Amino acid sequence: MEFDNVMDCIFCKIIEGELPCHKIYEDKRIIAFLDINPINKGHLLVVPKEHHLNILDTPIDLLKDMIAVVQKMAFLVIEAVGAKGFNLSVSNGKEAGQMVDHLHFHIIPRFTRDNLHLWSGKALSDDEMKHVAENIKKMMTQ
Ligand code: 5GP
Ligand code: ZN
Repeated sequence: MEFDNVMDCIFCKIIEGELPCHKIYEDKRIIAFLDINPINKGHLLVVPKEHHLNILDTPIDLLKDMIAVVQKMAFLVIEAVGAKGFNLSVSNGKEAGQMVDHLHFHIIPRFTRDNLHLWSGKALSDDEMKHVAENIKKMMTQ
C-alpha cells in the first residue's frame, strides 16, 4: 500500500468532502463521481475510499467490489447520456499516464464517430512474441 501521499491526495480530499465533486454513487468502500475534465459526456471515475496507489497494490476483494460498481455504473451512464458503448480504463504508473496516485477506473462513454482513436498495434516478430510469452509463464511458476 502507498500511504505516503494521502495527505496531498486530491481523491482522498474529495472522499472526505474537503473538495467538491459531482457524486453519482457511494457505498461503504467505493465512490463514483464525474471526471472534472471529461473525455466524453458522462466520463465517470469509480474510486475506492481507501487510498491505494494502483491495481497492483489493491486487495482483490476490494477490486471485486469495484468491478461490480463499474458494471452497475456503466449500465446507468450509457443509458443516461445515450452512448452506444464505453471504454473501461485504468492507468497504472506514470508511464501509463497515471496522474492521480489513487486507484480509479475510468468509464468513458462512446458515441458513433466521436473522433476518439484507440491505440494502434505494434508489429512484433513471432520470435519476440514467443520470448515474451515464455518470460511471463516463467514468472508464474516462481
Ligand atoms: P489518470 O490520468 O490518473 O488515469 O486520470 C486522472 C483523472 O482525474 C483525469 O481524467 C482528471 O481529469 C481527473 N481529475 C483530476 N483532478 C480531479 C478533480 O479534482 N476532480 C475530478 N472530478 N476529477 C479530477
Ligand atoms: Zn488518496
